[in-house]
Amino acid sequence: MSANHRKVIIIGSGPAGFTAALYTARANLKPLIFEGLQPGGQLTITTEVENYPGFEHGIMGPELMDVMRKQALRFGAESEYKIITKVDFSKRPFTVWADEEEYTADAVIVATGATAKLLGLPSENHYMGYGVSACATCDGFFFRNQEVYVVGGGDTAMEEANFLTKFASKLTLVHRRDEFRASKIMQDRVLNNPKVSVMWDSVVEEVLGTNENGKKKLTGLKIRNVKTGEISQVKTDGLFLAIGHQPNTKIFEGILDMHATGYLKVQAGSTKTNIEGVFAAGDVADHYYRQAITAAGSGCMAALDAERWLEGHD
Ligand code: FAD
Ligand code: NAP
Repeated sequence: MSANHRKVIIIGSGPAGFTAALYTARANLKPLIFEGLQPGGQLTITTEVENYPGFEHGIMGPELMDVMRKQALRFGAESEYKIITKVDFSKRPFTVWADEEEYTADAVIVATGATAKLLGLPSENHYMGYGVSACATCDGFFFRNQEVYVVGGGDTAMEEANFLTKFASKLTLVHRRDEFRASKIMQDRVLNNPKVSVMWDSVVEEVLGTNENGKKKLTGLKIRNVKTGEISQVKTDGLFLAIGHQPNTKIFEGILDMHATGYLKVQAGSTKTNIEGVFAAGDVADHYYRQAITAAGSGCMAALDAERWLEGHD
């Protein structure tokens, strides 16, 4: 075996990857984590996380991920700040490459997560976590009695809008066409809600805000009507992006079974993929819950699945 051989390799360093690392490390499997382009995962681009159990007063996303990393490393997990660019799961040991560097493993846990699609505006990035959000379940609570805007016209946008009306005093959906692609039942639920109005044929051009004493805050949006070209400026406290998510599965195409949407398929009630010895955990295999705690939970499942599988194959 090469010096770069491990019992377990974990691809991804979000809540799923670090939890899988914690459990496999405590099982003496000395896992190696590849942290990827976003060390710590999606929570590193948010501010307060209030729904992760164990933190009564909430915790900042980056801090939570830092603590998770340290906890896994304390038990002997190792981490590399590298991106896996290619994998070969056709024979054991499995091989993964970080560019030219080759690593082998007896078991692999894929925890590469998903990425919320964004509009691609610099101002959107600037106010991310300070009024701009891509997760209503996570951040809706912060917008009690405030006015918010939601971008999107699919089922996610309807679901997020519906959820947000529990908190917001007024909600406006901004959609780039003159009809939603969401299912009829989801549309009806939203359109019949008296708190909701819709700006059809419209796109957000710019996110506006203040930066007083170093405190960033979103205050409004510039919105363009794509048919008339007219630009309006609106005041708002929040902007929720609900234009879909992209699972990070490109390198597994043609190798691991996936749904048409790109999310990895796992056997019901487990983290087993179509390849024995390769497991998937977190958002990469979950288009539905997409929460830190569910990702961490399935990271634990993947570690236990890998450990049991290795016991039978050593
Ligand atoms: P991710 O966190 O997506 O991490 C994926 C990891 O895989 C990253 O480290 C990335 O670098 C790595 N990776 C990807 N490709 C490769 C590769 N080729 N090689 C190596 N590494 C790779 N959830 C909550 O429960 N509460 C909240 O308050 C909350 N707030 C959120 C706020 C925002 C702005 C966003 C975007 C999400 C929020 N979520 C929240 C959702 C939560 O962040 C995700 O559900 C969770 O992070 C998913 O964890 P994961 O481990 O599956 O993957
Ligand atoms: P989606 O169906 O792809 O919808 C994305 C929406 O965002 C579309 O309306 C799209 O506009 C808009 N959009 C995309 N990029 C944009 C951009 N750059 N600027 C402005 N708008 C943009 O994604 P989704 O809503 O996340 O749903 C994904 C899948 O999950 C679907 O199959 C959906 O049915 C399913 N889902 C189901 C439920 C449920 O049943 N409870 C809930 C959530 C999701 P266009 O319409 O113009 O393309």
